[in-house]
Amino acid sequence: APAETPVVAVNAHGLPYLDRRLPVKRRVADLLSRMTLQEKAGQMTQAERNALRSPGDIAGYGLGSLLSGGGSVPTPNTPEAWARMVDAYQLRAQATRWQIPLIYGVDAVHGHNNVIGSTIMPHNIGIGAGRDAALAARTGAVTAKEVRATGVPWDFAPCVCVTRDERWGRSYEAFGEDPALVSAMETVIDGMQGARDGRDLDRNDKVLTTAKHFVGDGGTSFGSSTTGSYTIDQGVTRVTREELEAVHLAPFAEAVKHGVGTVMPSYSSLDVLGDDQGPVKMHGNAEMINGVLKDRMGFEGFVISDWQAIDQIPGDYPSDVRTSVNAGLDMIMVPTNYQEFTRTLVAETEAGRIATARIDDAVARILTQKFRLGLFEKPYADTTHLAAVGSAEHRAVAREAAAASQVLLKNAGGVLPLKPTQNVYVAGSNADDLGNQAGGWTVSWQGASGRTTTGTTILEAMRKSADPGATLTHSKDASAPTAGHDVGVVVVGETPYAEGMGDVGNGHDLELSPADKAAVDRVCAAMPCAVLVVSGRPQLIGDRLPAIDALVASWLPGTEGDGVADVLYGRKPFTGQLPVSWPKSESQLPLNVGDTRYDPQFPYGWGLTTLRGTPQGGEPALRAIGLAARALQKAGHGKSAAAGRLVGRARLIVQDRIGQNITERSAKPFADADHLLLVGDPAGAVGKLTEAFRAAR
Ligand code: BGC
Repeated sequence: APAETPVVAVNAHGLPYLDRRLPVKRRVADLLSRMTLQEKAGQMTQAERNALRSPGDIAGYGLGSLLSGGGSVPTPNTPEAWARMVDAYQLRAQATRWQIPLIYGVDAVHGHNNVIGSTIMPHNIGIGAGRDAALAARTGAVTAKEVRATGVPWDFAPCVCVTRDERWGRSYEAFGEDPALVSAMETVIDGMQGARDGRDLDRNDKVLTTAKHFVGDGGTSFGSSTTGSYTIDQGVTRVTREELEAVHLAPFAEAVKHGVGTVMPSYSSLDVLGDDQGPVKMHGNAEMINGVLKDRMGFEGFVISDWQAIDQIPGDYPSDVRTSVNAGLDMIMVPTNYQEFTRTLVAETEAGRIATARIDDAVARILTQKFRLGLFEKPYADTTHLAAVGSAEHRAVAREAAAASQVLLKNAGGVLPLKPTQNVYVAGSNADDLGNQAGGWTVSWQGASGRTTTGTTILEAMRKSADPGATLTHSKDASAPTAGHDVGVVVVGETPYAEGMGDVGNGHDLELSPADKAAVDRVCAAMPCAVLVVSGRPQLIGDRLPAIDALVASWLPGTEGDGVADVLYGRKPFTGQLPVSWPKSESQLPLNVGDTRYDPQFPYGWGLTTLRGTPQGGEPALRAIGLAARALQKAGHGKSAAAGRLVGRARLIVQDRIGQNITERSAKPFADADHLLLVGDPAGAVGKLTEAFRAAR
């Protein structure tokens, strides 16, 4: 193995590729022409920082990139320590002939989530529920600013997966089950990268993004085997060509339009029905990566493999290496066997099994992004915005996103919003647990319960919202809910997990825990109750629904519990809408809008609004419906808005006091309306509807 090279200050002074006035293309060509095959292989290699045998290996192997896998954090885990850590690695890269900077990457999938004290956004499923493209972009901008301030220029996000089966443990990483919704939320890429031509990437508040996982990660199924925790997460996506295009590929075409810098293939295999090929591992799928992504979609960034994923391609290691690189992979996340990888890549190329032109293309793509990021000019952290990590300003954006993500599924008797004067009994496993409300990919890979970082729990936020004279009793297990409370709030849901199938210990199902079920039963028997479900995916409510007065899908709102309290206490209306269908039972899964036997507990797009003073029936309700319908028409939904169509259109539904739909057609029952529902809202008509309601009063 190469010996450790001493760090030197300047090797490459004066060479054309260091001239920032030259176009990136020329700089890339100049640098490429100087590099040996070994140096090129190094650029195509990404190692995990903890797997480095010695820091000198960065220069010794000329590594192109390092990453922090989930939970691979410096000690202490502070923003300052992150910047120092990345700088120290970067300094090592300067000890190479051409002083090519490293590109350091992390999974900042909901804020700079590896770092204690950072701003944690709602997970993507909540962003999808919010359906606010501008807000999604703002969350991206906050994340990018926090990440870049710590010296990290590259984020393995967003997941543009379309989730088709909520048993998948990564469901919360998806914006939803509908490709149009996922595509609409890809403004987050703009927030992170800036201008779509990449000209903002060298700013100290922007990062390179990764659209992942290409393609069909959210479409895997149990298939013939129901054993093992990866049959959904890393299994086989069986789809027709039409479904592949319309559901799974569409969000990647959109990502390319946004100028996404990198794309990560999926661990899963793709089995296109009718093409007689059988399942092909995506990491070796030349037709999809070279053919569709690069040639057809015109993707000009680079393709980064997933963690050790090429090892899963059938065949020995040399075959894994040549199959993946020949399929169009440009950089390989190895993350431990970087020595073997570079050696094999060189040998396969020298033997002519990988074309030199393919290697040059891969390295040119990687160098292009490094030049765009300004890393040659400024390899070290620009810590100007270090104090912005977890700042009040950033938390305000996360709070807004958390509020927007809350979906009111049922609100019988107008239990919500709460009044600050009410005495509230608070129970359930997730009322006072910051780690649970942040979910997986928070400080550690799997996430953890408890106070793992800084933020506000839902209970703490409720305490701030209640009047000083009001009683707020908290009992996690709902022991003896006493009289004297006006209303109960039971916050139930999941504990954190990442990848696999989620809550594996809990039997792979979407059932609430026995303790949470008991808490719901006790509280709802004793007083009017609202149940908040803090989880990465729908949970089965089933037969309990009639006993529950108000039901809220809270998703994984992140560190800002205040956002949840904003809608709970009516400072803001509920405007979120289901980004996925909410099933009645596990046997219905997979369940997606458009399925022939579509009979969910709550349909895709469902979401009540709590507009204070919602018309209580009679003339005002009729007027409001009319105004809302007109607002929708103006927003481009046409006449069909009021008549209603489920997918991709706005639909008006009127609910009675017990949360049953009355009708959506005849005007007469509107007189009994208690709420107005809007189902399917691609153009953000909820806001207009809110205005219409206000105006009608
Ligand atoms: C995940 C990727 C992630 C990578 C690096 C993998 O296990 O599938 O989404 O980017 O790890 O942490």
